[in-house]
Amino acid sequence: MSEHPADTNSFIAALLRDLAAAQSSERSGWGYKRAANAVLGLDVPIESLLQPDGTLAKIRHVGPKSEQVILEALRTRESPTVERAVDASARPSDIRRRRALRSNFLSRSRVVAALNDASLIGPSLDDYHGDLQMHSEWSDGSQTLEQIVEAGIDRGYDFCGVTDHSYGLPIAGGLSMEEMAEQHAAIDKINRRYRGRFRLLKGVEANIRADGTVDMTASELAQLELVVAAPHSVLRSAADQTSRMIAAVNTRGVHIIGHPRGRMYGSRPGVSADWDAVFGAAARSGVAMELDGDPARQDMDFELARRARDAGCLFALDSDAHSTPELSYAETAIAHARLAGIPADRIINCWPLDRLLEWLESRRIAAV
Ligand SMILES: [Zn+2]
Repeated sequence: MSEHPADTNSFIAALLRDLAAAQSSERSGWGYKRAANAVLGLDVPIESLLQPDGTLAKIRHVGPKSEQVILEALRTRESPTVERAVDASARPSDIRRRRALRSNFLSRSRVVAALNDASLIGPSLDDYHGDLQMHSEWSDGSQTLEQIVEAGIDRGYDFCGVTDHSYGLPIAGGLSMEEMAEQHAAIDKINRRYRGRFRLLKGVEANIRADGTVDMTASELAQLELVVAAPHSVLRSAADQTSRMIAAVNTRGVHIIGHPRGRMYGSRPGVSADWDAVFGAAARSGVAMELDGDPARQDMDFELARRARDAGCLFALDSDAHSTPELSYAETAIAHARLAGIPADRIINCWPLDRLLEWLESRRIAAV
């Protein structure tokens, strides 16, 4: 199996996802999917829940059939139950192909372990001063600007960047430039209220088009303090997209390349490119490469991030939260950065606010 050997929860969740995919009824598939998510979300390695009598302590949403798979996997590192179900299903090769789309996804217990592992070089939770990609109710998120500020303060942050989608992604409620101006007025008001305590940054998540250009004009980008550019199209093609990504990292006015591959857990490989060439260009242009902490994205993961570290890149570690509880997804990104051995000084979220603001301003396009 290709899963990280130390991440048993992730390995077992993948088996349960396979079992879900092998079901003929959507209903039973849904139950195994929920069990998989429960295992992925556990704070502790699942083997610690084994009881002396050989059964498993009760895990919410994990039924008897899932427990059987878990016990098989803990005993033998494989599950004949799952393999039989996959063989008997309508699409065994499709299910097996998807296994490759789960590599280097960390379970929550692996995230917790990485955060607590003092032998790792990399940012600690205390080094992390603010989150630079998230969505509010102004686009496809559910959180208000106020809730972001309060939750950010609760998490010990000094700043957050609100990066609602641009008008180029109407499916995600992208904001027109008029709505963007309204949002900026609301942010100004909040920043006056929280002056000296917290700073909300005026950001956007723009789209990297298939040709590598960013779908906002220079004068539009000039209106923003923080520009995340991210690929949202051509994410299932095996064709090489190195030139697309190099064009994006070289785009003036872009601060962060968000979820650089656009991969999705078990379903989408994302952009394929000569990443070392992309990272070399990114290091030269000074743009920050993102580690997106959404558990379904984990993009970049620690292995790819290590190559970006070696190329000399700057990094941003972000939650990509769409609701306030999802701000904790930043911890997944921090765990990947620790596993990749990225020094905190190379991570823009770990800079003091003044240094961050200066850097953001230095890359901003002068108003046209
Ligand atoms: Zn995005």
